[in-house]
Amino acid sequence: MYPAPFLYHRPSGLHQALELLSRHKTDGVILAGGQSLVPRMNLRQETPKNVVDLNRIADLSTLAVVDDVLEIGAMVRHQSLCWDAEVSGLSLPSGFAQLLGRMAGAIGNLPIRLRGTIGGSLANASPKAQWALLSLLLDADIVIENAGGARCERYAEFLNRDGRTTLKPGDMITRVKIKVPSAHWRYGFAQLAPQQNRPTSAFALAAVTLQDACVRDCRIAVGACTPVPCRLQALEDWLSGRPASVDGGNDLADVAKAAVRQQAFDLEPYLEHLAAVAITRAVAQALGH
Ligand SMILES: Cc1cc2nc3c(=O)[nH]c(=O)nc-3n(C[C@H](O)[C@H](O)[C@H](O)COP(=O)(O)OP(=O)(O)OC[C@H]3O[C@@H](n4cnc5c(N)ncnc54)[C@H](O)[C@@H]3O)c2cc1C
Repeated sequence: MYPAPFLYHRPSGLHQALELLSRHKTDGVILAGGQSLVPRMNLRQETPKNVVDLNRIADLSTLAVVDDVLEIGAMVRHQSLCWDAEVSGLSLPSGFAQLLGRMAGAIGNLPIRLRGTIGGSLANASPKAQWALLSLLLDADIVIENAGGARCERYAEFLNRDGRTTLKPGDMITRVKIKVPSAHWRYGFAQLAPQQNRPTSAFALAAVTLQDACVRDCRIAVGACTPVPCRLQALEDWLSGRPASVDGGNDLADVAKAAVRQQAFDLEPYLEHLAAVAITRAVAQALGH
């Protein structure tokens, strides 16, 4: 399994990379961690004539908090967000920092996490990608640049309902921006897979704030079992205002199933069931059960 011949470009600056992508709009492709692109090239599912490698561009690997916004460079590796040292240096609320670590740590295995990047993951638009779920839940902004300029898109607009991104030839994701949530938010994340190291069947992410022992704010997203990750507004509305001791039992599971059905109409019943299991677990964790 060898890729078709291609020209390899290794720019050391962003401007140079964007120029190359502009010049090779019709037959060029970005190489980030290579964890998805290289297998596809080896299988000749993709046969680009020009490969633009971003690994030398230091500006794309930065991690910073600017005005209460976490800015993650597109080339930041999954594993960098697992390592406490890197994340804790940013003074993030501990619940949020732990959430980043948990999401990153749930991706594939160590070699994949060491190479794979957040930008590559979002561009790849897999419905089983943890960063997609997080970006949807936390209304991440995706910064996209090309030789003509830059634009910023909310994740829910960046990923269409048909699972395609708004990326056009010549575009590059350069950063992901997430408003740092206040320390009041509590999180739950549940991921179901048939076996260890097997693809995820369903995952769900819940975030809540509490007031007077009741749920005040609530955000819930589900993915992997649905064609694209979805926010579950109906379930969020149902949960808001309820006591934090709300039983994660049948009612919650039934409302979760109905909410999933609203977003993904023709899901197989077993996938609906898996979604409901992941959601109830994530919500229970967030509520501290
Ligand atoms: C065995 C295995 C298990 C995996 N398990 C998981 C998992 O559990 N969860 C998960 O989320 N992922 C998983 N992955 C995918 C992995 O996380 C990759 O890191 C992810 O697909 C992104 O790939 P990358 O950074 O290596 O990008 P590449 O493979 O280099 O690129 C992927 C695509 O994105 C484009 N691209 C890359 N960077 C940019 C950019 N900055 N702007 C625009 N386009 C860009 C490329 O041109 C290419 O089309 C798995 C992969 C493997 C092989």
